[in-house]
Amino acid sequence: MSVLVYVEAVGGKIKKAGFEGVSYGKQAANQMGTGVTAVLFGAADAAEVASLGNYGATKVLHASGDAFNTFESNAFADAMSAAAEKEGSTLLIFPFDNSGRALAPRLSARMGAGLVSGATAYPEISGNTLKVKKNVFSGKAIAQVEIATDKKIISFTPNSTGIQEVGGSAAVEAFSPAVKSSKIKLVEVQKQEGEIPLPEAELVVSAGRGMKGPEHWGVIEEMAKVLGAATACSRPVADIGWRPHHEHVGQTGITVRPNLYIAIGISGAIQHLAGVNQSKTIVVINKDPEAPFFKAADYGVIGDAFDVAPRLLEAFKKFKANQN
Ligand SMILES: Cc1cc2nc3c(=O)[nH]c(=O)nc-3n(C[C@H](O)[C@H](O)[C@H](O)COP(=O)(O)OP(=O)(O)OC[C@H]3O[C@@H](n4cnc5c(N)ncnc54)[C@H](O)[C@@H]3O)c2cc1C
Repeated sequence: MSVLVYVEAVGGKIKKAGFEGVSYGKQAANQMGTGVTAVLFGAADAAEVASLGNYGATKVLHASGDAFNTFESNAFADAMSAAAEKEGSTLLIFPFDNSGRALAPRLSARMGAGLVSGATAYPEISGNTLKVKKNVFSGKAIAQVEIATDKKIISFTPNSTGIQEVGGSAAVEAFSPAVKSSKIKLVEVQKQEGEIPLPEAELVVSAGRGMKGPEHWGVIEEMAKVLGAATACSRPVADIGWRPHHEHVGQTGITVRPNLYIAIGISGAIQHLAGVNQSKTIVVINKDPEAPFFKAADYGVIGDAFDVAPRLLEAFKKFKANQN
């Protein structure tokens, strides 16, 4: 009967969206008077696995076996459906990331479950009815979606509801479900080394149209490298092609929730703020004292990015050098 949550570990570490998914599942489980079972894919050390209890998991099924060494949607969907059967789960939770986008619709069709993709808030559950909010029409409106099927699936937008510690503990079980042999053969996986995935980042250096052109991004990239941060940008910057689309944050892009968000030459339009305003500390550099971003900032510098950013970079370098 427990709420089932899909959790992924990469490089021995559970992804931030995995912890957030467990917190999300816990919130739903509290309303249903039940527990949370996390189904974990990927190797992670024992302490990391057990820590899922701290966020609300009562049980962790750790998928093991050759079929789960690399993401393959058929095998992972088989495992999630076996786990749902084992736990008697009627509500399944996925992050709305690449894995969740592949798995949730597949399982929805297979299980006859109502699906809400890209939820941005916790659900409200009453009897057999579940209501939840999501953005629609490229973020121009918010829809309240209701599902009343016996089985339900939600994929939530990562970083929209956050991670909550509840201080519990989880029983960990090895889980080796049978999976059908796949029609897809994985030939090669090419991973981009060194880049911090934006949804996972605790530090983000972001820039907007104030940077005037892609040739001026060197200082942004160097600052991110020195800090160990991810780089991000406003939507027009990605639309013009100055930066890749996977860096675009905001209502129609990625939602981030880092400890530090540095915004350089970004006006702070409401659609940009929607994706970054949950950041713990926001630093804004803008030459216009009336820029709306200053209202959301914890620290603001009124000044020319071409003057301030290189000086800030030098200060970060000195600070890092003194730390070593
Ligand atoms: C439906 C919809 C969805 C949208 N979704 C998103 C979204 O997800 N994310 C997003 O970012 N936008 C989104 N937008 C666009 C949004 O409304 C803004 O147009 C956009 O965020 C502005 O980007 P910007 O701040 O980089 O550029 P601008 O608005 O051009 O602002 C540039 C800023 O840089 C400053 N500046 C200029 N030169 C310098 C300098 N030398 N030094 C310092 N500062 C300088 C200026 O004072 C200005 O504040 C959306 C819009 C719509 C209608």
